[in-house]
Amino acid sequence: MHCQWLGGSLRGVEGLPVRIEVQMTRGLPGLTLVGLAGAATRESRERVLSAIRESGFQTPAGRMTVNLSPAEEPKNGSAFDLAMALGLLEVSEQIKPVRGRDWWFLGELGLDGCLLPIRGALALGLAARSAGAAGLIMPVGNAREAVLLDGIELGVCDNLDEVVAWLEGRGEIRVPAMRDVKIPGEESNHGQLDLCEVEGLPRVRRALGVAAAGGHNLLLIGSPGNGKSLMARILADLLPPLSGDENREVMTIRSVAGLPVSSSRRRPFRSPHHSVSIAGFLGSTKGGGRPGEITLAHRGLLFLDELPEFNRSVREALREPMEDGAFVLSRADGIIRWPADFLLVSAMNPCPCGQSLRGEEFCRCTPAQIRRYISRISGPLLDRIDLLVEVPIWRAESSRSAAIAGGESTAEFRMRVAEAASLRGGGAEPPGTLDHDLGSWLDGQLEAAGASYRLRSKTRAVARTVAALEGRKDIRKCDLLEALEYTFLLRGKIDRTLSC
Ligand SMILES: [Zn+2]
Repeated sequence: MHCQWLGGSLRGVEGLPVRIEVQMTRGLPGLTLVGLAGAATRESRERVLSAIRESGFQTPAGRMTVNLSPAEEPKNGSAFDLAMALGLLEVSEQIKPVRGRDWWFLGELGLDGCLLPIRGALALGLAARSAGAAGLIMPVGNAREAVLLDGIELGVCDNLDEVVAWLEGRGEIRVPAMRDVKIPGEESNHGQLDLCEVEGLPRVRRALGVAAAGGHNLLLIGSPGNGKSLMARILADLLPPLSGDENREVMTIRSVAGLPVSSSRRRPFRSPHHSVSIAGFLGSTKGGGRPGEITLAHRGLLFLDELPEFNRSVREALREPMEDGAFVLSRADGIIRWPADFLLVSAMNPCPCGQSLRGEEFCRCTPAQIRRYISRISGPLLDRIDLLVEVPIWRAESSRSAAIAGGESTAEFRMRVAEAASLRGGGAEPPGTLDHDLGSWLDGQLEAAGASYRLRSKTRAVARTVAALEGRKDIRKCDLLEALEYTFLLRGKIDRTLSC
């Protein structure tokens, strides 16, 4: 006696179709699991047999073999429990299914037969849809992910009994709807501070706008407790909301991480502490993989406060995703390609003691100490940061009064940023936007400063964003000067006596 049911397994943010084949032969009663099952999957034997008994069925009295195929692909997690239980009940002739053969069945079984939520339900649901499954059964606990899926028939169940009743045509399944899903308090608002409250810092404000409009990575340099993390949150609020497709991508990642999903379209904001482990930062490949901080920041903002304090390997690991928007994590237990397309906002003190911006008399560091401190982030990583900005000493309270005078709010500025982003366009630098004489003037400046090729094209790209923020396509000298300020701080001398 033989039967098969369909399900899926996770690899990174992808779901892979898996066939769960069950066979019963004569011989001593027992249950064997074959097909590269990981530890969590091997444990399902005990859960499934207990769930079958507790749901009022008999333990199948024969030699059972469960095969998960394709055999060469590692299978992870507990999502196969439900399909295995259905297979065991069918081969032992305890149920007579009249439908559901082309559906995917996902769910972990509790010892009492209840269906428990699984990790990565959204990724698996998307996989079911693209594999051409007729429909999908999920645990009620995954209903929030279920409502984000469209283009596939879908039902949620509480326990094994309910699924069996539907399969035998004795009952109906519940279709999850947005109104049934209790959305717990949305994640706290990014910006406790509005842009108009940073009125006292026009240069920083401006840099935040340039970063948002052009997707430029940013390094804020300022004394401790100087509101650098507040500025990062304001920047997150300046970014446009996620598109529908982007939101699905972001929620798929959260689903795989086992975090709650929502349809808020808010961009991710991740702010790992500098003590974060390399696995916490980059993710892991174990058990189908867990995304790290840089993948959780995908399509959003990654804020690294006290950048020089991060582990060297963590800092170095940033280079590949900053270049490609994704990275390949290769470990003994597998290889996973994780998406990681984020805007990097980092922050550091101006010197080890953090006081040098207040004036020389406050700083206790020697020039050699300062050089060593800054050199921790120099080189290839610094090369990938577009904007370097000093955050002067500043008090939020005194700035608040300036806000009343009617500065541009985050919401107003966000609209200007969106216009600039569309004016600027994406991809490579379009030709003809920089006047020939100005171009050679810029080249002369950059050459004199010994700028690398990367730094030269970066300066042009930033100038293009600055012009776009002013509603222009043509780049003027003042745009170039402003861009040079951002790209050259810490990097070398540039003749600043010139003005527009
Ligand atoms: Zn110092």
